Amino acid sequence: MKIRSFEVYILDLPTIRPHQLAMHTIVEQSIVVGCVTDEEGREGWSEVATIGGASYGESTPEAIKANIDTYITPLILGQDPIHFDKIMNDVSKMVRGNYFAKTVVENAIIDLAAKSKGIPAFELFGGQIHQSLPIAWTLASGNTDKDIEEAQQLLEQKRHNIFKLKIGKGDPYKNVEHVRQIKHALGDQARVTVDINQAWDEDTSNYCIAALQDAGVSMVEQPLQAWDFEGMSRLTAKFNVPIMADEAATSIQDVFRIAKYRAGNSIALKPCKHGGMTQTKKVAGIAEAAGLGLYGGTMIESSLGTAACAQLYATLPEMKFGTEIFGPLLFKDNVTVNEIRFENFEVIVPDGPGFGMEIDKEKVKHYTRNL
Ligand code: MN
Repeated sequence: MKIRSFEVYILDLPTIRPHQLAMHTIVEQSIVVGCVTDEEGREGWSEVATIGGASYGESTPEAIKANIDTYITPLILGQDPIHFDKIMNDVSKMVRGNYFAKTVVENAIIDLAAKSKGIPAFELFGGQIHQSLPIAWTLASGNTDKDIEEAQQLLEQKRHNIFKLKIGKGDPYKNVEHVRQIKHALGDQARVTVDINQAWDEDTSNYCIAALQDAGVSMVEQPLQAWDFEGMSRLTAKFNVPIMADEAATSIQDVFRIAKYRAGNSIALKPCKHGGMTQTKKVAGIAEAAGLGLYGGTMIESSLGTAACAQLYATLPEMKFGTEIFGPLLFKDNVTVNEIRFENFEVIVPDGPGFGMEIDKEKVKHYTRNL
C-alpha cells in the first residue's frame, strides 16, 4: 500500500450571505481540496479554507497548490499512508512553513490511512472522547436588531447558544456598543464572545475590553497584532475576561511562547494554521500543560474540512470555549454527499471511515476554478 498520486484543486464555494471580517467580506470562500490515491486505487480527501486571498494569512490558495505540486508531492510518492507522521516529519525537513499546504497533504493521507483500515480517523489519534461538541455561531450582519433577531431564532431552534461577533472593522466604540446591546438582549440564555482579528492597538484595547468585560462578554479574541506578544501579555494580566490568541498561535513554538509569557490565557486551535492534525494535537498538549483554555476554531471550511476538525477536537479532553466549526451552515452547497449534523446546540462528530465524509466528485469538478 503505497501513495501513487496527489492532486490539488482550488474551489470557490458561494456562501448563503456576506460574512464580514476585519480584513475581508466573504461572499465566495476559496477552499483547497487534496486527493491522495494509493496503488490499490483507494482515495483520501482533505480540505483547507483560506480567507480573502493574502489578507488573512500568508497562505493563498494559489501558493498552497503550487507548493504542494512542486515541493511536497515528490516527497510523499511511494510512502505508506499509515506512516503519516513520519511522512510529514520528512516533508518538514525539506519544506519550511507552508502550514496550510502541509495540512492539505497530511489530512488527505490520514483520511486514506483510516479508510484503508475501515476506521474513523480519530481512532488514529487515540479515540473519541466526545461524540458531539458545543458550537458557536458568528453574527455578522452588522445590524444590531438583525443580529439580535438572528440569535433569538437560533436559540429557539436549539442550534447555537454561543455567539461570536467579529468587531475588528469600523469604529471600535460603536462596535462595543453593538456588542453590549446584543449581550443585554440575550441575557443569560447565551454566551457572547468577540473577535477583533488584530485590528486594535493597545490603548483602544484597554478602553474597549474594559467595556466589553462590564457588558458580560465571555471571551476576547486576538485584539492586538499577531506579533505583539508583550501587549497580549499585559492585557491578559489586566483583565478578568479571557483573552484568546488566534492569529498569534500558529506553530508549536509560538504556542509555547504564549504559554511561557501568558500572552493570552486561551488558544484557538485550527489544524490548517498549525500544519495538520498531528501538530494540532501537540499544540493542545502544550495548552493543557500550561492551563490555557482551548477553542475549536475554524477557517470556515466546508463539510469535508469541518469533519477533520471535528474528529480531531473530539480526541481532546476539554474544549473550554467550545468550537466554532459552523462552516457547513454558511455555504450554499457542499462537496460531500453526506452532511455534518448540528443538533441541540452541538455539532455531531462524524464517525464513518476516514473523516466520515463521502466526496461528491461532480461537485468538486463543478466548483473547481479553471486555472
Ligand atoms: Mn479568530
